[in-house]
Amino acid sequence: MSSTPLVSPVSNFIRTVIDGDLAAGRHSSIVTRFPPEPNGYLHVGHAKSICLNFGLAEDYHGKCNLRFDDTNPEKESCEYALSIQEDVRWLGFQWDGAVHWASDYFDDLYHYAVELIGKGLAYVDDLTPEEMREYRGTLKEAGKNSPYRDRTVADNLDLFARMKAGEFADGAKVLRAKIDMASPNINMRDPAIYRIRRAHHIRTGDKWCIYPMYDYTHCISDALEGITHSICTLEFEDHRPLYDWVLDNLSIACHPRQYEFSRLELQYTITSKRKLLQLVNGKLVSGWDDPRMPTISGMRRRGYTPAGIREFSRRVGVSKSSNNVDMAIMEGAIREDLEAIAPRVVAVINPLKVTITNFEGALTREADFHPNHPEFGRRMVAFGSELVIEADDFSEVPPAGWKRLTLGGEIRLRHSYVMRCDEAIKDAEGRVVELRCSIDHATLGKNPEGRKVKGVIHFLSVQHALPAEIRLYDRLFTVASPDADKEVDFCNYLNPASLNVVQGWVEAVVQDAAPETRYQFERLGYFCTDRRDHQQGGRLVFNRTVTLKDSWTKEQN
Ligand code: ATP
Ligand code: MG
Repeated sequence: MSSTPLVSPVSNFIRTVIDGDLAAGRHSSIVTRFPPEPNGYLHVGHAKSICLNFGLAEDYHGKCNLRFDDTNPEKESCEYALSIQEDVRWLGFQWDGAVHWASDYFDDLYHYAVELIGKGLAYVDDLTPEEMREYRGTLKEAGKNSPYRDRTVADNLDLFARMKAGEFADGAKVLRAKIDMASPNINMRDPAIYRIRRAHHIRTGDKWCIYPMYDYTHCISDALEGITHSICTLEFEDHRPLYDWVLDNLSIACHPRQYEFSRLELQYTITSKRKLLQLVNGKLVSGWDDPRMPTISGMRRRGYTPAGIREFSRRVGVSKSSNNVDMAIMEGAIREDLEAIAPRVVAVINPLKVTITNFEGALTREADFHPNHPEFGRRMVAFGSELVIEADDFSEVPPAGWKRLTLGGEIRLRHSYVMRCDEAIKDAEGRVVELRCSIDHATLGKNPEGRKVKGVIHFLSVQHALPAEIRLYDRLFTVASPDADKEVDFCNYLNPASLNVVQGWVEAVVQDAAPETRYQFERLGYFCTDRRDHQQGGRLVFNRTVTLKDSWTKEQN
């Protein structure tokens, strides 16, 4: 369900590079990839990367692979891998051919490591991790060579084969690229390319006890898949020389080029799988798909639309400068999509009882589901002697300019009569618990004679409405950058009021809505039936996706 018009892509430096490559004949078509590690659910930053990589492939009639970077067996799971595939598809993209896995290349990666050893470009090192850190040097100081750096090719081949055969304990040895311990770029100071780790792998099981490192794996996987433009985030800029070094020194014909753009950061939330996992494990949210989470599954459950998220990523753009984005940009993109696709119905989320003293029985009138989309159809709106309105549409002592209900005042009930409030009934504490009102019978679909009634409020007839659980969400954090201060745990900034569950009423017409059905509740915002808890024809559960930008003021009756 999406109606966002086709919009022309915003140009960016990556498109400029691609245009140049195609014009110069360096490539006849492009191949990109999205390479997540299956160690968590995807978040809004990944959504941007997905839209970029799959979007480029679409625009240039190329291909985009989905490749799992599954080189860290302890942290990875099938649940995560499945959720990632579901998220990519839900966003509206389809990868080329089968899903790829770095683990598909474990044999190739092993043989390429043997090739590097044979060329004198890799060696087995016995330094402990602490020693290795010491030898690495600092940003200001060159590192120094490991005493094992000059092992012979034959020794290295033998030791590496024995690492693979499981002869050494975890961490006892690593295979390192032999580059330059004095390089100003620390990534080039003989980086480890294989480590010993007895861990069960989600795809290769216990076949391997050595696993290749990310930097080594990534460039080779890109090359084996014929990727033309390998797009990643800026923190990998300093890894690019290593990416190129590995490919320059191996007998692989293809040499993809890496381009870096800045990570998306969204204010009032966090974009790090590790930290999101902390929220899930700490039960600070209900799960990865908690509608307050910036995960794709959380945004989905909250009611965000794929088209809205795609439009958001188009608007935030691709560049190398900081990409710290106001939540309002996301909400604006979502709201615009929902405005066009969501039928409108009435709900009352903070009910105040109203008794109509001069009406008996029931009456129904037809009303549109959307003022600009007659094709959405119409439904019957009921009126009766017992109503609910929003409690804050009534004020006993109204502020200046008040257009809603007050004692002795009149308003128009949306799609219905003009109503006057005659009496407010209070409980022992003095809170208004019920209004006694009367209607002007001559005002059904007609203006009253001799006076103007400005305010319009929504209502439901209790006899016809259905009770519903309504979940109102606010920002997950109380500050714009919860993880900016390394000294303070970001969990300290969780917003205690980020979830407010209320019991409200909805029009009966939503009773048979399937999970993930979106509505505008007039004057209140956009809502979506919950994917997990809402039952079609049973328990009704709505998530507030986003509020309305402009408070609903005057509309036709
Ligand atoms: P995290 O720190 O959240 O785990 P990651 O970069 O380690 O993120 P990966 O699974 O390795 O997560 O990411 C897959 C792809 O998504 C990478 O190409 C990465 O650059 C991109 N990506 C991750 N986070 C962002 C972000 N905030 N903005 C844009 N792209 C991102
Ligand atoms: Mg990563």
